[in-house]
Amino acid sequence: MSENSLEKTMKALVLEKPAPVESGPLLLCDLPVPQIGEEEVLLRVRACGVCRTDLHIVEGEIPSHLLPLVPGHQIVGAVEEVGEKVKDLARGALVGVPWLNQVCGSCRFCQEGKENLCENALFTGYDVPGGYAEYVATSREAVYKLPAGYKEEELAPLLCAGVIGYRAYRMSGVKEGDVLGIFGFGSSAHLVAQIARAEGVEIFVFTRSPEHQRLARDLGASFVGRAEDHPLRPLTSAIIFAPAGNLVKNALSYVERGGKVVMAGIYSTPLPEIPYSLLYWERSVKSVANSTRQDVRELLDFAQKFHLEVKSEVFPLAEANRVLRLLKESKIKASAVLKPQP
Ligand SMILES: [Zn+2]
Ligand SMILES: [Zn+2]
Repeated sequence: MSENSLEKTMKALVLEKPAPVESGPLLLCDLPVPQIGEEEVLLRVRACGVCRTDLHIVEGEIPSHLLPLVPGHQIVGAVEEVGEKVKDLARGALVGVPWLNQVCGSCRFCQEGKENLCENALFTGYDVPGGYAEYVATSREAVYKLPAGYKEEELAPLLCAGVIGYRAYRMSGVKEGDVLGIFGFGSSAHLVAQIARAEGVEIFVFTRSPEHQRLARDLGASFVGRAEDHPLRPLTSAIIFAPAGNLVKNALSYVERGGKVVMAGIYSTPLPEIPYSLLYWERSVKSVANSTRQDVRELLDFAQKFHLEVKSEVFPLAEANRVLRLLKESKIKASAVLKPQP
């Protein structure tokens, strides 16, 4: 890094202590532009998606790993500088950084190709600084090339909402002609709905917000209702995106024999007591934890081959507290994206 950039500062949103988002826990600060190591990359952030996980981190529903913290793990940035050992990225290239940042490669999960379960994993905007900033330094292994034909604000939500949704969708095991139930309809669900439709899977959507119901219909849902509305036909499997544990009971009572109920969130309120008969007939409930690098590549490939309509609302970086509050109140239509330079 040149001496000049040592003095350079950037705007960043910093969480010093988790607190309800209504109290404005993210502070707009001037921080030094980070310096990079030899296997790292400095990105100028062009867009950073806002994920429900950010809300859980900011409010302390999941334990803090690093404080003070710059959150944000759906980063689209232009390569500003590369470390000495990074040979395959050119300055100016537009790239993406997802939630999974670094893994150890040696624990038994890494050895089995399940690096999403790595015992020593580092996550972007949680264990290492994230993208709610003008610049971010990140390890080369966390940087992905992005599909063509999308705007920056359309690419950002692919990096977690898209990737985790994709992993949950694959875990649901649905195929052409099946019916997939989707509980909660936001950033991730609106992308999964399109992946499912592209593969000939019918979707039934359960959500309270009239605006989310409308969006679900626009994206091809053949049934739209609230969680307590019994669907016309049984579901083959279901994915729960809303962080409400009681939905497990609804989902299990709607899936047919052998059906899977996949919980896509990093946090949920407690699960209810359920009669064993709901789980019987080889129904299962499973959570999704993070993603593998292969999931990221597959989702980005999918988005290259099949154009996903990413519904993004763009906000200035400085408004992150307000955006998180809107997300908490289900007032974001699909995906919210922060931009340092609107
Ligand atoms: Zn590991
Ligand atoms: Zn996320």
